[in-house]
Amino acid sequence: MPRTLSLSIFASVLVLACQAPPADAPSKLQVDTFLDDYTEKLVELSYAADLADWDANTRIVEGDDSIVERQNEANAALAAFTGSQDGIEKTRALLAHRDTLEPLQVRQLEKILYRAANNPQTVPELVERRIVAESAQVQKLFGFDFQIDGKSVSANDVDRILTSSRDLGERLAAWDASKEVGKGLKDGLAELVELRNGTVRALGYGDYFEYQVSDYGMTVEEMTALTERFVRELWPLYRELHTWARHELAARYGEEVPELLPAHWLPNRWGQDWTALVTVEGIDLDSRLAEHTADWIVREAESFYTSLGFDPLPPSFYERSSLYPPPPDAEYKKNNHASAWHLDYGQDIRSLMSVEPDERWWATAHHELGHIYYYMSYTRDEVPVLLRRGANRGFHEAVGTLLGMASMQKAFLEAKGLVAEGTKTDEIQSLLKEALDSIIFIPFSAGTMSHFERDLYAGLPKDEYNARWWQYVRDFQGIVPPTERGEEYCDAASKTHVNDDAAQYYDYALSQILVYQLHNHIAEKILHQDPHNTNYFGRKDVGQFLASILEQGATADWRELMREKLGEEISAAAMLTYFAPLTEYLKEQNEGRTYTLPESPGV
Ligand SMILES: [Zn+2]
Repeated sequence: MPRTLSLSIFASVLVLACQAPPADAPSKLQVDTFLDDYTEKLVELSYAADLADWDANTRIVEGDDSIVERQNEANAALAAFTGSQDGIEKTRALLAHRDTLEPLQVRQLEKILYRAANNPQTVPELVERRIVAESAQVQKLFGFDFQIDGKSVSANDVDRILTSSRDLGERLAAWDASKEVGKGLKDGLAELVELRNGTVRALGYGDYFEYQVSDYGMTVEEMTALTERFVRELWPLYRELHTWARHELAARYGEEVPELLPAHWLPNRWGQDWTALVTVEGIDLDSRLAEHTADWIVREAESFYTSLGFDPLPPSFYERSSLYPPPPDAEYKKNNHASAWHLDYGQDIRSLMSVEPDERWWATAHHELGHIYYYMSYTRDEVPVLLRRGANRGFHEAVGTLLGMASMQKAFLEAKGLVAEGTKTDEIQSLLKEALDSIIFIPFSAGTMSHFERDLYAGLPKDEYNARWWQYVRDFQGIVPPTERGEEYCDAASKTHVNDDAAQYYDYALSQILVYQLHNHIAEKILHQDPHNTNYFGRKDVGQFLASILEQGATADWRELMREKLGEEISAAAMLTYFAPLTEYLKEQNEGRTYTLPESPGV
């Protein structure tokens, strides 16, 4: 629990003891007026900042700095407002009376304080130093000159070697090269830890990790227990995959089967995604979709949602979005990374994509519209602007991913006429490939990353960074470094998020787990279909179920929401059920092999 909470309870106890509370407590009208004024200003400033950000992402003109200047100005004005000393003091004073306030008021005030802690004007010099240090760190990370045998290579070159080379010498050189970047980031990371902690301590949080976790309404201990439960729940399957991979890769490289997996044997720099280990002849949509236009793809994605009972997209969505690649003769460039935007917390909803008629954009368009429909669902009078967000940080992504996944299910594609009826796919190999993505990711995200960052912000000494990192990699992932990794390295810092998206990597784990929980619920309880082959299209009952979650935004505690809508706690059990046929298959494959991971995780 954030320290602000215990402090304010303490403060209100003091007030109770010394004064008559009713006279002192703010009236409902006073609190509402404060929230209304805050919200009005927030919408104005964040709309200006989002519009500038939008232009900076959709119309990149070389040599034209005017958009960037506008962007910097608008974001500085927004930060000055959300972090203002006056706002912080008023919010804390009101929260001191949390017991007399309405739950929705408390939730909004907490969001104000959470936002303020990112850039509190109570410690302006600290905030400024942090922003400078963050951008220096990011520049060092992305500007790093990776080298193999003295020759510069790109990060993509490194990844290509790790996903495809069978030459262990070449793999080791690529892996080593990828970790060199950490050396130069270590001091910067240590400085950022101090600055981030200092910034949030100004608002009473114990450290930056505690601050980030508080957005879930949880303590660090609760989040740690939750992430460890995820790892434990999936361990039986992870252990099978680990055993299978040790043998599979040893055969592939012509080596003895190792005790634990050498990091450079795996197709990803952090061992977080092993999908490149298998190739599956799956569904190929590209040739069918090539017969259509990019616009058709977006309209089809919209029709998927309207078939579930959601409203059509507002005309302004099509007018204002940037949905397609710029024409070849365009005098501007745009960001190619797909995203969904809610610019004014109201009706101005847009998506940035570069849709082309192919399989990737088919799934991506359905995914991005998932975010768009989430925005549309909670944009209603009953949901205050400050609570127009996902039920927690992981929810928004889970909803996008769920509907992107639904758009790729064979039964749906057959019904759409995009895949020939009765098309054969290798189901076990498809399931294996899916597990090498989603199951493999959990010990890394919920285990290694979340535990390392927790320790980092709790004061892990700088000369223990690398040892602690590898201890977690070994315990959670069963992976070991190929060479001696002394403290001159800082292998954790080779991961982007450790530098510039700090202390929230468990978001991805929660999100992944939620996807399967929601999908299994829909398949089994609503559709009564095989979760591996569903068709959501046209099912108003599925739409109603989703809408009943989406329309609440962040007005309810996400754990209560799950209990109410799914009838269960968040749990990786749904994933384990989904992958049960794979677990059986792997047990057969692994028969007679030695398992080197313990029966339950050692952490
Ligand atoms: Zn997304």
